[in-house]
Amino acid sequence: MAMIVPRVVEPDQESELLQIEWADGHASRIPFLTLRDCCPCAKCRDDRDNKRTQFRMVLTTKLLKWARLGNYALSFEWGDSHSDGIFTYAYLRGLCPCGECEPTS
Ligand SMILES: [Zn+2]
Ligand SMILES: [Zn+2]
Repeated sequence: MAMIVPRVVEPDQESELLQIEWADGHASRIPFLTLRDCCPCAKCRDDRDNKRTQFRMVLTTKLLKWARLGNYALSFEWGDSHSDGIFTYAYLRGLCPCGECEPTS
């Protein structure tokens, strides 16, 4: 697990993908939509658990900013001013769509 650290984080606004280069050399391209749909904050989790569909606008999946939280997670700020999700490195890695990375809950 020690290797699950994003070395380079680079949002590609044009194709709406978050490009991550990990310390173990793996590269992930995670769609903004996936990040937003898998937002781990309490409110979004609750909405998903109760199958409430989230009202989505173009701004909802517009990634304005990202930041490192300590040495364990990234946070994202979305165009609709939602920024509560704390994406731990392991969780983020699990969102990698390559088919080889293991999803974590
Ligand atoms: Zn959320
Ligand atoms: Zn992967």
